[in-house]
Amino acid sequence: MQKQIYVTKPSMPGLEEYVCEIKDLWESKRLTNMGEKHEQLENKLQQYLDTPNITLFANGHLALEYAIQVFGLTGEVITTPFTFASTTCAIVRSGLVPVFCDIDPNEFTIDTDKIERLITDKTSAIIPVHVYGRLCDTDSIEYIAKKNGLTVIYDAAHAFGVKGAASHGDASVFSLHATKVFHTVEGGCVCFRNAKYKPILDRLKNFGIESDCGKAIYGGNGKMSELHAAMGLCNLRYIDSWIEKRKALVQRYLLHLREVKGIQMMYYPEESNYAYMPALFGSMQIRDKVYEALKQYNIFARKYFYPLTSTYDGKNSKLCTPVAYDVAQRVLVLPLYPDLKQSDVDSICTIIMTQLSEGKS
Ligand SMILES: *Cc1c(COP(=O)(O)O)cnc(C)c1O
Repeated sequence: MQKQIYVTKPSMPGLEEYVCEIKDLWESKRLTNMGEKHEQLENKLQQYLDTPNITLFANGHLALEYAIQVFGLTGEVITTPFTFASTTCAIVRSGLVPVFCDIDPNEFTIDTDKIERLITDKTSAIIPVHVYGRLCDTDSIEYIAKKNGLTVIYDAAHAFGVKGAASHGDASVFSLHATKVFHTVEGGCVCFRNAKYKPILDRLKNFGIESDCGKAIYGGNGKMSELHAAMGLCNLRYIDSWIEKRKALVQRYLLHLREVKGIQMMYYPEESNYAYMPALFGSMQIRDKVYEALKQYNIFARKYFYPLTSTYDGKNSKLCTPVAYDVAQRVLVLPLYPDLKQSDVDSICTIIMTQLSEGKS
């Protein structure tokens, strides 16, 4: 059988390195509840992400829900529909109403010119998404939030390794899922400006329990285990080299496809993490044709993000957020991960170019 190429593939340390990292757990029998690995990883990530405060979580989605809880958001939250399901689900599961703002056609992040008209007396926050690792227009968002007294929590799930990604807004939430640039198998973290939230988040993720009999708070279980933290400690040793490998592959893709008529490639800023390789085609028909053609060769690209999360409750996204609607129909995210071969990129690009030239004749 021909080898299969998926849109992403987890990067891993050597098995022996991981075994070595978890060996002392067989002595200590301390497997979870904020043990040594958890503490080490929190410290290391705090440095790597250059954030004043950090709390690890069992996954990125829970991290987002806990961040929403700790900042006491109420009523309506402005976000975008061009994101992974998690963003919208976290807002709705927290009893809040997502208000969908359209995206910028070139950046794919929230269109800051369209935020203010969506603010009502019920709006408590903005939850923008750093889509594909492209940072939002954080200056404009900060200006709007200050002016209107809103909390800003970034969904930074795509932005691990992007310089400065953890230092915007009131908090930034990262996913450390196996498919992300850096991972702990399952995991997430909240990075935040104000140190007063640290003890509260630490309590919330452990059922709200506190050793002194303080005021009761209703938390849940959002803890990251020692085995997951150990994976993170190993992976963090390689993160810079993995991003370098991603960069070389992105450059290869761009070399082939940047000048091709009928495809719009994303622009990567200098401090990118090269997390994703989105390509925009001329129409949904062409996008779907390319998707199917790649599938014939066991290459599985993904239509991130299609369909839009705003369609879950039957909203007409074509009317509400026409740009996001249009991009979602034409985008295809191509395979990209550190182990991908340059020759695989060449093959993928050849298949795409063949499809596009066939379309013309
Ligand atoms: C991956 C992802 C999440 C959720 O993270 P998990 O760790 O999988 O729970 C949230 N938002 C975005 C944009 C993501 O890509």
